[in-house]
Amino acid sequence: MKVLEDKIRTYGRALSDDVLLVDMFLNHQIDCELMREMGAEFARLFRDERVDRVVTVEASGIAPALMTALELRVPLVVLKKSASVINQGALQTEVFSFTKQKSYLLTLKPEYMPAGERVLLIDDFLANGEAALGAARLIEQAGGVVAGIGIVISKNYMPGLQRLRDAGYNVSALAQISAMGQGYVRFVGEEG
Ligand code: 5GP
Repeated sequence: MKVLEDKIRTYGRALSDDVLLVDMFLNHQIDCELMREMGAEFARLFRDERVDRVVTVEASGIAPALMTALELRVPLVVLKKSASVINQGALQTEVFSFTKQKSYLLTLKPEYMPAGERVLLIDDFLANGEAALGAARLIEQAGGVVAGIGIVISKNYMPGLQRLRDAGYNVSALAQISAMGQGYVRFVGEEG
């Protein structure tokens, strides 16, 4: 998605080959017009998947997921990372955080994931695939079907995208980074 790649080129800051800062438009300050365009693009990409529900992981996935759910006219569910919402009967799975380098429990109340519904999972970044695989695990534990996974920014030189595809998921990423290092970002198709 060219508009997103341009934003990343202009405002993204690669600290290393590990972490890209996009807080100017995705997760600290939020570019609402860009979110609207991304929501429309995710809806277009997954239109044929008969999506009943959008699910995301707090917090950075919420803005693009909200716009996607609005476009598809379906409910949005946010998987929680905080232990404070743990209620009896909630489903949980352990996920290793790429940015914090420690594990946390992802939580879902089963009443927000009716069995048999088709789910579009949206998240901000894909690195090793831990967050997306954990979210998919929870959705499936509750009886949901992962109809697609939409990622805003995939770092394709890391294992996440391949792991999700090997697990059989239909994955699309709006911006795909082929290489990154301090001060530069290269997208798939720009190699050489
Ligand atoms: P994974 O679980 O695929 O290893 O990493 C994905 C999660 O880690 C995302 O939900 C995101 O919050 C965070 N993450 C991974 N890479 C980056 C990055 O380069 N920048 C930012 N801001 N977050 C990232």
